Amino acid sequence: MNCELISVGTEILLGDILNTNVQYLSRELACLGIGVMHHSTVGDNSERLRAALDLAFSRCELVILTGGLGPTPDDLTKEVCAAYFGLDLYEDKDILCDIQAYFRNKKIPMPESNKKQALVPENSTVLRNRNGTAPGFIAEKDGKIIVVLPGPPKEMEPMFRKEVKEYLKKYTDGIILSHNIRTFGIGESAMSERVEHLLSLSNPTVAPYAKSGEALLRVTAKADSEEEAERLMKPVVEEINELVGNYIYGIDVDSVERATVNLLKEKKLTVALAESCTGGLCAKRLTDISGASEVFHCGVVSYSNEIKHKVLGVKKEHLEKYTAVSPVVAAEMALGAKKLGGADFGAAVTGYAGPFYEDCKDPVGLIYIAATDGEELFIKKLVTGHNKGESARDYNRTVSASNVINEIRLLAKAYPEKRSEGIKIEEFFKAYQ
Ligand code: ATP
Ligand code: MG
Repeated sequence: MNCELISVGTEILLGDILNTNVQYLSRELACLGIGVMHHSTVGDNSERLRAALDLAFSRCELVILTGGLGPTPDDLTKEVCAAYFGLDLYEDKDILCDIQAYFRNKKIPMPESNKKQALVPENSTVLRNRNGTAPGFIAEKDGKIIVVLPGPPKEMEPMFRKEVKEYLKKYTDGIILSHNIRTFGIGESAMSERVEHLLSLSNPTVAPYAKSGEALLRVTAKADSEEEAERLMKPVVEEINELVGNYIYGIDVDSVERATVNLLKEKKLTVALAESCTGGLCAKRLTDISGASEVFHCGVVSYSNEIKHKVLGVKKEHLEKYTAVSPVVAAEMALGAKKLGGADFGAAVTGYAGPFYEDCKDPVGLIYIAATDGEELFIKKLVTGHNKGESARDYNRTVSASNVINEIRLLAKAYPEKRSEGIKIEEFFKAYQ
């Protein structure tokens, strides 16, 4: 079955809000095996909405609309859709009770206009809204199916998950299941070369893609049941593991920070950070993960040289001789953070995020990262090559933070053994005496 999504709302056309509903629904429908063929957006206008429905039903059997179910006069999706299928509206007593209860719970009087939301189309499946006041509905006519959902994602998503998904299952032939294999430290093309022979498979399919400086592989199978889909994917995932396993930080985890926090927790390890060019982004990303307090001790945003020296103990002569963007300063920052935080690991980053530095002979995008377990140092030099335009700063900071987090993950992964390619702390500083 083919589907079109129609988002209703002038605020989307004006760019006031980001249309996240289509992203959510497109992903969910893909998993159900329903092909989403078109996305369209229309303002709060009955004529244009009718025209959008005409066009959508000329090319798809299923049309899902979101938005425009509120109580105000500009909310007209329900009226237009019901009229499109020739259905009258009636007041649903249960829905009216739901709406009254919603206001009672919030201890605010119910505005008269909200009564309008209890009107639903006859001969339709009414979808109760447990997180707001507007009910949704599903109606069918002459082989066409219309699904109408509220605009706010916190109302639309649970309604889709709890009621619409189940309803649509009878129209799908099989299910689609994916595993996302996430890697770090290998580019998309290098990874694709290693798994090239798998990219032409048809079921499961293997697709590489890049996201925020990371390369991912998505393995997707279509089958009659989840077990069957898993059975199809298993050997392929295993083969990928053999080919690029060194770079894989997780399967179906959403980020390198989650993989890192989980690993630190599992091994009961802690970390402290010193950040310069990332301005606290590493700390922010690690503490985005719930439960980070068990593993994260502190983060110092040491933007000025004075703070690098005073708080972290970076030597003044090193700052002068080698500049703040140097391996030795990164190393001293990491050691200073570890000491200050009393953590098992210390990590630090210093670099040129860009986009402009007039009096700098080093390139924008040059970043040094240091990580330490108190015995050895791991120094990583990045040259991102992103040195132009406003997006360079964002890119350099994101990629630097991901690398810092990944360095911590690698320390934790090897623990209690040592990571390879480390250098003893005393050895490292010999070069700077
Ligand atoms: P309400 O009762 O809040 O008016 P509604 O069903 O009429 O709900 P809209 O008026 O279209 O929905 O949108 C209300 C709010 O829902 C928007 O201001 C926006 O915050 C969110 N919203 C609507 N459509 C989308 C969308 N496609 N993607 C993300 N958010 C959306
Ligand atoms: Mg509205």
